[in-house]
Amino acid sequence: MGERIVILGGGIAGISAKLRNRKGMLVDKNPYLTMAPRIIDIFSGNNTDYPKIPRPLDYMDNVRSIDFESRTIHLQKKDIAYDKVIMALGHSQNYDFIKGSRYIHGFSSYDDAIDLKKEIPKKKHIVIIGGGYLGVELAGAIGGKRVTILEAGKEILSGLPAKFTETATELLLDSGVNIEVENPVVEVKKDSVITGVKQYNSDLTIFAGGFTGNLPDSIQDIKIKNSRIIVNSYLQSVDYPDVYACGDSMFVDSGNFIPMSAIIARSSGILAMENAMGGKNKFMPNNFANIIRVGKNYFGTVGNTFIQGIAARIIKDAAVALTVNRVKEL
Ligand SMILES: Cc1cc2nc3c(=O)[nH]c(=O)nc-3n(C[C@H](O)[C@H](O)[C@H](O)COP(=O)(O)OP(=O)(O)OC[C@H]3O[C@@H](n4cnc5c(N)ncnc54)[C@H](O)[C@@H]3O)c2cc1C
Repeated sequence: MGERIVILGGGIAGISAKLRNRKGMLVDKNPYLTMAPRIIDIFSGNNTDYPKIPRPLDYMDNVRSIDFESRTIHLQKKDIAYDKVIMALGHSQNYDFIKGSRYIHGFSSYDDAIDLKKEIPKKKHIVIIGGGYLGVELAGAIGGKRVTILEAGKEILSGLPAKFTETATELLLDSGVNIEVENPVVEVKKDSVITGVKQYNSDLTIFAGGFTGNLPDSIQDIKIKNSRIIVNSYLQSVDYPDVYACGDSMFVDSGNFIPMSAIIARSSGILAMENAMGGKNKFMPNNFANIIRVGKNYFGTVGNTFIQGIAARIIKDAAVALTVNRVKEL
């Protein structure tokens, strides 16, 4: 009998691992794979395809904790043993550090988008905390409202080439979005947001200030950073060599910034499985395309080339389609 490899989380990374080795056992608490890059479409109506895709699971259950010494996974309903485990539990948002966080609406899951779809039509002033790619895409998708992006840094889409910031700023201003930079949020109230600079009316405040990993709180006996497993370049936990991590669950201890993206999730899921099967290859992150959408406009880079329009849209959709089409094979 071969080794028992268990994949925890059947999102983009976990499903890519499973597609690489069908004998890997897949565990997820949700019956559907949610395509996070498609969540915004739920209320923007840009695409007609559905972000929830059915896929077979070996166990539909919640991962509660793991005993890394005895190699036992404690699910809600039962315990399962593993020889190798691949952690692919995805992302979450943490905004508890903001005063008044109970008035903030998160945006990271299918259910968040469904809630917002109901709430947005009833609201007048919408504030989005964070001007990264999520804040920018969200602002672009919410039409007909007074939308303000509050960004703590000097510009939106900071860290990306200047052309991204210029293009997004132009498109957002054209669609009436108010962009306020160097405006760190201090407190959120029911009807306003207070920054270090001024107070903004807001009857709906949405957090788009970034993602962390999503490990259950009980997983502590392994090196983690921002709720992600710290791995070496083979995607192996730095303290348990039979534990691998991929996608948003991994923090690669290389000193280089690796984005949380669908392309990275897919390639790291495949490599984590290959290495768990005995391979010895290093992860070479290649986020070859970075496409952003503002309303119905798509722009970004493929390699070093800046593109806009239909070509950009096809590439953004292709990254997701690559995984979606193959899920049907399972
Ligand atoms: C709103 C949004 C928009 C995005 N847009 C883009 C984009 O345009 N382009 C891009 O490249 N990237 C985008 N991303 C990022 C990209 O979607 C993620 O990097 C990618 O989904 C990570 O894949 P993953 O498999 O690591 O995690 P996920 O796809 O989140 O999968 C995690 C899986 O783990 C399961 N799970 C979690 N906890 C448990 C538990 N305790 N027990 C059992 N199962 C559990 C979940 O049900 C889920 O199926 C976006 C992300 C978000 C949230």
